Amino acid sequence: MTDLLTVRHFINNEFVDAHEGGTFESLNPANNQPIARVASGSAADVDAAVAAARTAFDSGPWPRLPAAQRARHVRRIGELIEKHAAELVRLEILDSGVPISQIKDGTIPRSAYNFHFFADLIPQVVGEAFPVEGRFLNYTVRKPVGVAGLITPWNIPFMQETWKVAPALAGGNTVILKPAEWAPLTAHKLAEIIQEADLPPGVFNVVHGYGETAGAPLVAHPGVQLISFTGETTTGQAIMRNGAATLKRFSMELGGKSPNIVFADADLERALDGALFQVYSLNGERCTAGSRLLVQDSVYDEFVSRLAARVRAIRVGDPNDPATEVGPLIHPDHWQRVAGYMDVARAEGASLRVGGGRPAGLPDGNYFEPTLITGARNDMCIAQEEIFGPVLVAMPFHGEAEALRLANDVRYGLAAYVWTSDLGRGHRVGQALEAGLVWINSQNVRDLRTPFGGAKHSGIGREGGLYSFDFYTELTTVHVALGAHPIPRLGADR
Ligand code: NAD
Repeated sequence: MTDLLTVRHFINNEFVDAHEGGTFESLNPANNQPIARVASGSAADVDAAVAAARTAFDSGPWPRLPAAQRARHVRRIGELIEKHAAELVRLEILDSGVPISQIKDGTIPRSAYNFHFFADLIPQVVGEAFPVEGRFLNYTVRKPVGVAGLITPWNIPFMQETWKVAPALAGGNTVILKPAEWAPLTAHKLAEIIQEADLPPGVFNVVHGYGETAGAPLVAHPGVQLISFTGETTTGQAIMRNGAATLKRFSMELGGKSPNIVFADADLERALDGALFQVYSLNGERCTAGSRLLVQDSVYDEFVSRLAARVRAIRVGDPNDPATEVGPLIHPDHWQRVAGYMDVARAEGASLRVGGGRPAGLPDGNYFEPTLITGARNDMCIAQEEIFGPVLVAMPFHGEAEALRLANDVRYGLAAYVWTSDLGRGHRVGQALEAGLVWINSQNVRDLRTPFGGAKHSGIGREGGLYSFDFYTELTTVHVALGAHPIPRLGADR
């Protein structure tokens, strides 16, 4: 066990063991061998991190720095991520099992860009003025909120963490990150990077551990002002209940079961590429996965048989192999959960047209075949619940009205994809979809300036661009009288 990596909390610019000394092992998804011994946080560790973050916020320099100076620090973190990119790539593959082709040129450079992007944006976060005809000048100022608790999931962990840490820091808050217990390695590396970036003590802290023992005390802590959470909808609900007593400000990025609608008039080859990418990339562990495929009935059989051939041809294997397209799922428990949905599909009377189990020749690790389910109805569990694996459920529809009805008939509303060559229909359907994010004739291509987030049970609030600073800053409105406007004189004429 001597070659296990050691992952410790990062509090007040120091790496420390858990107060109660507890640890847990994290596993390599490709073979389920232990790779790290991780500090298991509890309320005592959260207390220490909050104390450090509070002191840094209440009396340290960070929230008081001019925005341009804070931006320089934030940009420096992005540069250090680029400097350490090779190691981050190695750790992220080891921890998450996502193939190198999607990490090396995808999520790790994007994580560096998260810092550059928000560093560039923070000087643009300005107040507004509301002059009142020579009588008043009313204006707003934006200020840091306080101590930010950031709770992140295990899918594309480094991207998720940096997507929150960068705007939280740029906005002048101090931060406590609680990364997912199944993928803690890159959060540990981020702490090393931030130590190298020389931020003041207490500005950035990491507490590792399980949701119930490390996440819950962070949410309940009266010294924490805001919680940005990405994860499952049911976890989000538990967090909101737990944060109610201390009236937390919440941003919630939750689950999805996003429709991918293919009309007969679409460029079917591109729609096929988009449908495949949108559900099988990132091992299918993607919140915006287009996991419900709705295909117009006149082209359904042809489209689905071409799709099935491509799904069978997807290369599953070692995530370190540049040719691999789908790697192992994160954890044996998650493998069981995804596999359980195959039993549900059979019991509901749907057909496993492709895949549905462990791929041949990969007896170890959490490998799961890219799977295509047909013969499903939209009211089945497999069409309504988030499976969060490489599993696509395909269903036909007749016309535009039915496509919209099926697409919206789900409790989630994160993303939706529409493929059509009819411009008017693209916009019409795009605007009528109950989703926070819609792409027309495209897979998920992010523009960081745009608001990101979900409708319905997929989330509350938006992050991205200046919308992130609506969440990570507090607004004060100052009203200034310019002259002697009338003031009612209560009790004056007695
Ligand atoms: P999860 O909800 O199980 O865990 C997410 C984080 O919450 C982890 O750090 C976990 O330790 C913590 N947590 C769990 N219980 C907690 C509690 N009671 N109090 C405080 N913290 C707690 O989610 P996951 O399985 O890690 O991630 C997969 C889910 O995340 C999927 O549903 C996926 O759709 C969603 N997701 C959403 C987005 C988005 O932007 N909408 C992005 C990525 C992932």
